Amino acid sequence: MQRIGFIGLGLMGEPMAANLVKAGYELYVYDRNQEQMDALAALGATAVENGRAAAEASDVILTMLPNSPHVKEVVLGESGVLEGVKDGQFFVDMSSIAPLAAQEVSEALAAKGVVSFDAPVSGGVEKAKAGTLAFMVGGPEEHFDAVKPILEVMAGSVTLVGPIGAGQTTKLVNQMIVAANIAVIAEAMTLGKKAGVDPERIFKAIRGGLAASQCLEDKAPRMFAGNFEPGFRIDLHTKDLANALETSRNLHTAVPLTAQLMEMMQALTNDGHDGLDHGGLALFYEKLNSLSLVND
Ligand code: NAD
Repeated sequence: MQRIGFIGLGLMGEPMAANLVKAGYELYVYDRNQEQMDALAALGATAVENGRAAAEASDVILTMLPNSPHVKEVVLGESGVLEGVKDGQFFVDMSSIAPLAAQEVSEALAAKGVVSFDAPVSGGVEKAKAGTLAFMVGGPEEHFDAVKPILEVMAGSVTLVGPIGAGQTTKLVNQMIVAANIAVIAEAMTLGKKAGVDPERIFKAIRGGLAASQCLEDKAPRMFAGNFEPGFRIDLHTKDLANALETSRNLHTAVPLTAQLMEMMQALTNDGHDGLDHGGLALFYEKLNSLSLVND
C-alpha cells in the first residue's frame, strides 16, 4: 500500500484523512494547527513538522488547503513539499484553487519528476465524513490509476475531466451553479413570504418538481431554522467566486450572475457573516426586504 502525506486537516481534510487511516493507509499528516494533527495522531497517523517531511515520508502527497496562496506556500515555500519530493512520486491537490495556480504548482513539481493531479471535491463535511465526496480530477490519464484507488476511499464518484487545471475549472463551474441556486432560493422564498405564503409549505409543494435540487433540500431548511452553522463557509465561497471571476476575466467571458453573487457575498462579509454557512445568503435578502425567513 502506498504511504500517504496528507497536508491540511481542517473541516474537510480531517474526516478525509481519517477515512484513509481507517482504510489501512499509512498516513503522515501536517497542519499548521497542532490540535488538528493531534486528532489524526490519535487515530494512528504520524504527525510531521512541515510539507517537506510529509513528502519525504510518503509516495503520494495529498493537500486539502483553503486557497491558491496556501497551496503555493505549502508546496513551493520554505520547508515545503518541493524540498522533500523525489522522482516517481505523485501529488494530488484536493483544495479548491485557481486553475492557473494548479498548473504553476504542477510545473514546479514536474521538474523533480513528480506527477500532479488537481482533484477538488464537492459534497461538504457530511459527505467527507461518509466518504462519499464527488471528485473532479485534472491530470494525465496514463497515471490516473496510481491515485484513483486512494481518492475512491474518500469518494462517491471520481471523474477525470481533462488535463491539469481541468478539475479546478470544473469546481468553479460547480460553485457558480451552487451560489446562484442558493441565492435564488432565498430570493424566491422572500417573495413567497411577503405574499403571505408560508415558505416551508412552498418548500414541501415544490421539492418534488423541477425546482428540486440538493441545494433546495440542504439550504431551505437551514433558512427556515435560521441555522447557518457551517457547512461550507461564506468566506470559502467568496474565494471560489473570486477565482471564477479572475478566470472569466482572463478568458474575456461575461458572467453577470456570478458578478452579482460576489456583491452579495461582499455585503454579507461586511456584516460579519463570512464565517457562516453559504445558506446565509438568505440574510442578504432578509436585510434587503426587512423580513425573516425563520419559521413563525
Ligand atoms: P478549513 O479552513 O477548515 O481547513 C484548512 C486547513 O488548512 C486548516 O486546518 C488550516 O490550519 C490548514 N492550513 C492553512 N494554511 C496552511 C499552511 N500554510 N500550512 C499548513 N496548514 C495550513 O477549510 P475546509 O473547509 O477544510 O476546506 C478546504 C478546501 O476544500 C477549500 O479549498 C474549500 O473551498 C474546499 N471545500 C470545502 C468544502 C466544505 O464544505 N467545507 C466542500 C468542498 C470543498
